[in-house]
Amino acid sequence: MVIKKAEKHCLDKGIRLTDPRRYVLEIMASATKPMVAYDVLDRLGKYLDNPKPPTAYRAIDFWVENGFIHRIESLNAYTLCREDHHHKGSQFLVCDDCGDVTETHLCHLPDALKSKAENNDFIVKGWNLELHGRCGDCTKTV
Ligand SMILES: [Zn+2]
Ligand SMILES: [Zn+2]
Repeated sequence: MVIKKAEKHCLDKGIRLTDPRRYVLEIMASATKPMVAYDVLDRLGKYLDNPKPPTAYRAIDFWVENGFIHRIESLNAYTLCREDHHHKGSQFLVCDDCGDVTETHLCHLPDALKSKAENNDFIVKGWNLELHGRCGDCTKTV
């Protein structure tokens, strides 16, 4: 369970697992599709009295920084990390038909990109690959 993992992570790092952080992670963990920040804020209202947008946004940012949530740039949305370890980059298969997002497991940059970066003396800190297309389920129903 991701909450247990988060509790341990915070304990290990000496970070406080505040209520908004905990609730936002619970919300993300129960979501079946990527969520935009506004939806997270909306759901946070079920846990907290009248939460202010920055409360939700700061909690989301916190989990993004700590690797529990990924931002999907092209959708301007967030999704829980489905891989069980912290990784630098994130990469997703985004279905344009049903909106389903699959996290792919790629721990290292593909060599082609890595060598481009190296040739430019460029130090890679992270990356974000989003492949758009049609998922297997949608392909079957066509
Ligand atoms: Zn991930
Ligand atoms: Zn689909």
